[in-house]
Amino acid sequence: MRRHASIQLCASLGLLEEDELRDLHNAGVTRYHCNLETAPSYFSQLCSTHTQEQKIATLLAARKVGMDICSGGIIGMGETVEQRIEFAFALAELEVQSIPINLLSPIPGTPLEHEKPLSEEDILRCIALFRFINPTAFLRFAGGRSQLTPQAMRKALYIGINSAIVGDLLTTLGSKVSDDKKMILEEGYHFADSQFDREHLWHPYTSTSNPLPVYKVERADGATITLESGQTLVEGMSSWWCAIHGYNHPVLNWAVNKQLEKMSHVMFGGLTHDPAIELGKLLLPLVPPSLQKIFYADSGSVAVEVALKMAIQYWYAAGEVKKNNFVTIRSGYHGDTWNAMSVCDPVTGMHSIFGSALPARYFVPAPVSRFDGEWNPADIVPLRETLKKHAGELAALILEPIVQGAGGMRFYHPQYLREAKQLCEEYGLLLIYDEIATGFGRTGKLFAWEHAGVEPDIMCIGKALTGGYVTLSATLTSNQVADTISNHAPGAFMHGPTFMGNPLACAVAYASTKLLLESGWQANVQRIENQLRIELAPARTLPQVADVRVLGAIGVIETKEPVDMAYMQRRFVEEGIWVRPFGKLVYLMPPYIITPEELHKLTTGLLKIVREL
Ligand SMILES: *Cc1c(COP(=O)(O)O)cnc(C)c1O
Repeated sequence: MRRHASIQLCASLGLLEEDELRDLHNAGVTRYHCNLETAPSYFSQLCSTHTQEQKIATLLAARKVGMDICSGGIIGMGETVEQRIEFAFALAELEVQSIPINLLSPIPGTPLEHEKPLSEEDILRCIALFRFINPTAFLRFAGGRSQLTPQAMRKALYIGINSAIVGDLLTTLGSKVSDDKKMILEEGYHFADSQFDREHLWHPYTSTSNPLPVYKVERADGATITLESGQTLVEGMSSWWCAIHGYNHPVLNWAVNKQLEKMSHVMFGGLTHDPAIELGKLLLPLVPPSLQKIFYADSGSVAVEVALKMAIQYWYAAGEVKKNNFVTIRSGYHGDTWNAMSVCDPVTGMHSIFGSALPARYFVPAPVSRFDGEWNPADIVPLRETLKKHAGELAALILEPIVQGAGGMRFYHPQYLREAKQLCEEYGLLLIYDEIATGFGRTGKLFAWEHAGVEPDIMCIGKALTGGYVTLSATLTSNQVADTISNHAPGAFMHGPTFMGNPLACAVAYASTKLLLESGWQANVQRIENQLRIELAPARTLPQVADVRVLGAIGVIETKEPVDMAYMQRRFVEEGIWVRPFGKLVYLMPPYIITPEELHKLTTGLLKIVREL
C-alpha cells in the first residue's frame, strides 16, 4: 500500500511484539492502533482474555520503533463518569495523538446487549472532557455515531471532535465520506489545503512525513501575494531576496513574452544570442571594474561551485597544485550543493549532518565589529593566523560581503573586507565575494562590496538578477584569472551547464536590471531603510528580543530563543503578512516598490507577533 499510495498507513492488528512492529514500520506503516477501550479500573470487568497492560506495552513498543500511536475506546459500556475521566487521563499520560471515540451499540447476544444508551448530553459532555484533557490530540468520531442526531453531531464538532473514521466499521454501519465532508463544510470548517502537495511534494528543508503547513497561492501582484482562500498578504520576503520589483510587473512580463516569441532556449556551446550579450553589456559597468569575464550559470549554488572551481583551476594553471582548499568565515551561507555546502557555516549553515562527507575547509570566526559600530582590530587576527599557517594549501577566501544572509543575517564592518583583501594579496589567495543575496541594491549600494571599496577576484551574483522571474546566476572574474586558466592546459575552464546563458532568463535579467537602474532604486531602498529603523525600533525593549538591526532594505529582529516556525507563520498569515522566520531570526526584506502603508502593515504585524512570543 505504501509503495502505491502516499496516504499515512495505520495498522490495527492487536497485541504485537517490538520485532513485529519494527517489521510493520519498515514496510511503511507510520502509526499503530490499539485501543485501551476503557478506564484502567474497569477494563478487567469487561475483558478476561488479556490485560490493559499488554495493550500499553504494545503501544509503547510501537512508539519505540518510531511509529505514532492511536488509542481510544468505547464509551457507554457501564463505566462511571469518573471512569471516563480516568480513561481520558490514561490516554493523556501515554501522550496519544490520535484518539478514536466509539459509542457502544448494544448488539443482541452480547453481554452488553441490555446496556442503556447514553444520552446525547452525556456523549457531548464526555467529548468535551476528552478535549480538555487531551488538548492537542486528534479526537476521532468512530463507531456508533449514527446514534446521534445531526444537531448533536454538529455540536460535537464544535466542542472537540476534529477528525473522523469514515466508512463502515466492524459491527456497525459508518458514514459516507461525501456526507461527512458536506457536514464539515456546512459547519464552516475547511479541509487542510493541498492534500496532494502534502502527500507528494517535497518543500525546502521540510519533512514529508510531518511537513510544515503550506499556503496555496493563487496569484501575486506588486508587493502582495493572494492565497487561494482569497486572503491577500503583504510580501515581506521578496521570495527570498529575489522579487525586488514585486510580482507580475508589466515590464518584466513583456520582456519574457517578447523573448518567448523568438526562442526560449538554445545551447550556449557554439551558439550565442542577444539576450546573453546585452545582459553582459549592462552588468559590466555595475560590478567591480576589474571583473571582465562573465560565466552564466543556473542557480546561486552553481555560481558558487563555479567560483570555487575557477579558483582551483587558476592555481593549477599557475603551477600551484597544492593550493586547492578554501578558507571562509563562520555564519556564512553559500548554497546547498556539495562544495557550496562545504563553505557554509558547519553549524548554522544547516549542513552539519553531511560533515564527514564534505571536504574539510578552514573556518575563522566571523567579524564581531558591527556594520554601524567601531572597528575592532582583533577581528582580523584569526584570518591572519590561518593564512600564515596554511596559505600554501589555500586557493581562496570566500565570503558574503557586509551582510551574511541565511547563515545568521549579520551585518559586519567594511574594514574587515579591506584587511582581508590585503591579507589575500600578501599570502597569495584569491578573494571570492558571494553577492547572491546582497546584490542589486538590497544593502543600500548596488552591490555590497561598494561599502568597503575593495574588489574581489571572483564574484557570484544570482537571486534578484532576474527580478525573481526565473533562475539565473553568474560568476564574474578578472582577465588575470580567466587568462591564467585559459593559457594553460587543458586550455579551457572545465564547466558548462546545459542551460548556460538561457535566453529567456537573460532577457528578463536584462529587463529587471534596466528597470532597477531607471526606477530610482536608491531612494526607494533609503525610504524603506528609514521606515524600518523607526518602526522596528520599539522591538529593542521587548524581553523576547536580543537585537534589532537594519541595513538598506533589510530589517532583522533577533529573538533570544529559537521561534516555532509553523506557529509564527500561521500567526503572520492571520495578520495578513508574509514573513518566514528561521532559528532566532525574524526579518523583512520587502520588494523595493512596497508602499509606506504596506510596509507599515508588515512592521506592525511583525512587532505584534514577536510580542506574543
Ligand atoms: C541563496 C544563496 C545561495 C544559493 O543560491 P541558490 O539559487 O539557492 O542555489 C548562495 N549564496 C548566498 C549568499 C545565498 O543567499
